[in-house]
Amino acid sequence: MKTIIEPFRIKVTEPLKVISKEERIAALKNAHNNVFLLHSEDCAIDLLTDSGTGAMSTKQWAAMMLGDESYAGSPSFRRFEETVRLITGMKHIFPTHQGRAAEGILALTKIKPGDIVPNNSHFDTTRANFEFAGAYAMDLICEEGLENDFVAPFKGNMDLRKLEDTITGNGAEKIPFAMMTVTNNTSGGQPVSMENIRKTKALLDKYGIPFVMDVCRFAENAFFIQQREKGYENKTLLEIAQEMFSYADAATMSLKKDGLVNIGGFLVCNDDDWAEDFKNALIMREGFITYGGLAGRDLEAAAVGLMEALETDYQKYRHATIEYLAKALDSKNIPYVKPVGGHAVFIDAKAFLPHIPPLEYPGIALVNTLYLAGGIRSVELGSVMFGRFDDNGNEQPGPLELVRLAIPRRVYTQSHFDYIAETLDYLMQDVEKVKGYKITYQPKYLRHFTCHFEQL
Ligand SMILES: *Cc1c(COP(=O)(O)O)cnc(C)c1O
Repeated sequence: MKTIIEPFRIKVTEPLKVISKEERIAALKNAHNNVFLLHSEDCAIDLLTDSGTGAMSTKQWAAMMLGDESYAGSPSFRRFEETVRLITGMKHIFPTHQGRAAEGILALTKIKPGDIVPNNSHFDTTRANFEFAGAYAMDLICEEGLENDFVAPFKGNMDLRKLEDTITGNGAEKIPFAMMTVTNNTSGGQPVSMENIRKTKALLDKYGIPFVMDVCRFAENAFFIQQREKGYENKTLLEIAQEMFSYADAATMSLKKDGLVNIGGFLVCNDDDWAEDFKNALIMREGFITYGGLAGRDLEAAAVGLMEALETDYQKYRHATIEYLAKALDSKNIPYVKPVGGHAVFIDAKAFLPHIPPLEYPGIALVNTLYLAGGIRSVELGSVMFGRFDDNGNEQPGPLELVRLAIPRRVYTQSHFDYIAETLDYLMQDVEKVKGYKITYQPKYLRHFTCHFEQL
């Protein structure tokens, strides 16, 4: 059979309602035109994020009942540890309440003011954590990664020449570690090849710089390697993940992605001294080393979810849903980042709304139009999220103006995707009339979450 079906059936349902256009207008106004401030019941299809929004399996729900809530030494931790060790091979394993908590501990213990941290592309919380600790978070994505239309198999890769120039130009002592984000969320959820990971490790070894991986979507990345990289077609996703981790000295993880759970994260490393530092910070910030801010039941569900994310049928289905949405966009000539990444479709708002300049936030204009048109919530990854203020206080736009339709794991069915496509059709009718926005309030860090907008 050619049709790829959902490798599950539905056992529990959750009601979903499309509120009226008038109600959507009022809701967006109350939210100061920032979809992060909407009530989720007012979003018919919520594509804000794939983080923590997935559906758990029967096995995960069953595992939760085995959760042992002892403060220290719980068997739930040992089951979690055993699974994470099987996948990562790391010596020291610390649970955290989310990925950003792992990043925060890494920043607190390893970064000094004036340091530089290179990454293929920093995720927003990663950047915020590192910059808060006084580092310069530098993105060194390969050239293809900046070309939205250019089809290449591994557009999330690190630019190795730029990495070496950064090291030799600033001195290795300025770089406490380098990072690699798989898949590269910020640059379209694009995968990173095993070759790039291997070469990055070799380069960093030459200068004695530790290699940390941000592995939120390690299973999706493993699937892309299996599908696209020579020599990996007959390896299992687990074997590919194991090889990927074998090049890392440490890793941060949000279990809300490829852990297939609603909350959780981890921080892992091989070095005993690093582990000692992490342990102290973990106890101060998150909780004791055998629970790290999570309940025993959360650890149980994550241990099952991590292995389910490595099932080939699951990854095939997941990728097929994203391809299905991409085909719908193709049929309407809506520009998006090609090829599609592992967890989302990224519409190119700059190309879609060319009449709106970057600092009038074409991404926000598209996000809000999509919400008003059909109650679909998406997110901007453009100048609001990634813009910076230069030393003279002038706002500089981000490198790309994208709108992400992130697909929650195992949640929406094919008719939901057809509804999204139909909403986009409706939106195409008056695309030239869509107006830009200005910011009327913004906090100092991570402004996209809570800032207010006014339409121009
Ligand atoms: C989600 C995410 C994080 C942060 O994880 P949280 O669990 O949301 O704190 C870090 N890096 C990447 C690439 C992510 O996608």
